[in-house]
Amino acid sequence: MSADLKYDVLVCGSGMAGITAAAAAAENGLAVGMIEYFGEPGGIPVSGRLGSISGFTRLDQVAVEGFPRAFADRLDARGKAKIQYGGSNINLPPSTLAAELFDLLAFYGIDFYGYSRLVGMEKEGSRVTTALVSMKEGLRRIDARLFIDATGDADGCFLSGCPFVVGRPADGKVQSATLIFIIGGIDKTRMPEYMEIRKIWKSKVRQVPIDHSVFQFVPHGENSNEIAVNMTHAVDADPLSSAGLTAMRRTCVKQAEYLLEFFRTEIPGFENAWISQFAPQMGVRDSRRIVGDYVLTSDDVLSGRRFEDEIALGVWSIDIHSPDGVHTGVGRAAASPYGIPYRCITPQGVANLLVAGRSISCDFEAFSSTRINATCMAIGEFAGTAAKEIISSGDIRKIDVPAVRERVRRASYRFFSAPVPPRVLPRPWYEPPKG
Ligand SMILES: Cc1cc2nc3c(=O)[nH]c(=O)nc-3n(C[C@H](O)[C@H](O)[C@H](O)COP(=O)(O)OP(=O)(O)OC[C@H]3O[C@@H](n4cnc5c(N)ncnc54)[C@H](O)[C@@H]3O)c2cc1C
Repeated sequence: MSADLKYDVLVCGSGMAGITAAAAAAENGLAVGMIEYFGEPGGIPVSGRLGSISGFTRLDQVAVEGFPRAFADRLDARGKAKIQYGGSNINLPPSTLAAELFDLLAFYGIDFYGYSRLVGMEKEGSRVTTALVSMKEGLRRIDARLFIDATGDADGCFLSGCPFVVGRPADGKVQSATLIFIIGGIDKTRMPEYMEIRKIWKSKVRQVPIDHSVFQFVPHGENSNEIAVNMTHAVDADPLSSAGLTAMRRTCVKQAEYLLEFFRTEIPGFENAWISQFAPQMGVRDSRRIVGDYVLTSDDVLSGRRFEDEIALGVWSIDIHSPDGVHTGVGRAAASPYGIPYRCITPQGVANLLVAGRSISCDFEAFSSTRINATCMAIGEFAGTAAKEIISSGDIRKIDVPAVRERVRRASYRFFSAPVPPRVLPRPWYEPPKG
């Protein structure tokens, strides 16, 4: 059957990994399409309302540079985001990030299809030929020479029959999931410092199914009088079924009500606060991990192991939100930045499908470090840059990894040297009255 659409590269999922992969492929002159289940690009930082990208550095150790760093610096330079913790993190309103990403996609001529879900993959032998995409107008077929699975859940690999694992080895349980929600209506002039609020929280013993040690909220931007609360926790979650996702959302919505009550009754400045929104995207931390040609281990992470075929560096600590409901927190740290081998993004049994983002091949503990956004972006940058070579050779396993790595190192993106574009509006949306 003939395709409805055709691209050199089809990126499935538009989280920060997918976005970076798409930009790198387009920078290299390839025709790129991108499909996304939600309406905006950005994944958890946007649709999950996280508003943070972390893991660039740890103390004085730098892990992530290239496109992710330039992207963060550009936002900071224009006052759109705030770089924090010595450059390790950026924080910004999700709406700002979404608008920026729409501009980036438009700049590179990447065809972005929101409200479009990957539901099937067709193969001929070891080659994926066609993505089946559920769009508003019905089921559509998209052909590509290379597919990049950046769905976070490895949906593309799963639908292509590639092997994967889920959760911790003992029982397959995944890290707890969080529904981020926004509290508005805060009187910031009377609101205590963060650490003071944390103390109040800790001093209250409450019988709720929320781990008391987890206390985290972030303002989305400096002048915001809202906070994004990252405190609900759904344990025993099944992130890979609609029923499971619904169950965890119901749990978190109920917890949010409790948390709002806590803020209103215990914290000065919150008396008239209200929940202004729940994140559209459920905050799933952990689901499928592909079984690639190499499985990165926690020993690799903690020893800062380097690899000949490494494509990115990570430096985030082991950070497990325990499946049992006790947050182990940001724990053991890598001795120094560790390498992520190319073999972690090559799913078994396919010749033209790569994975980028959190579902790369690693063990349960190593995953809790590699899942951080800056690392996911660095992986995406390599995948997108490698696309040209993969398309020429016809096989993900037939590329010169150090040569591509060198191209990543030297890459300078037109997007960052071009003058900041005026906000790209899809059509004139406001006509001033004439006369
Ligand atoms: C609550 C929470 C707090 C976190 N805190 C931080 C933090 O402070 N700092 C940090 O850096 N990281 C944090 N993380 C981790 C980080 O956000 C994720 O690991 C990261 O977003 C993974 O990036 P990704 O691009 O692989 O996937 P995602 O961001 O999940 O993006 C995947 C995209 O693919 C889309 N998609 C999925 N399936 C399909 C399909 N079948 N068809 C079409 N589209 C599909 C999704 O809608 C989504 O937009 C947090 C995660 C959670 C859940």
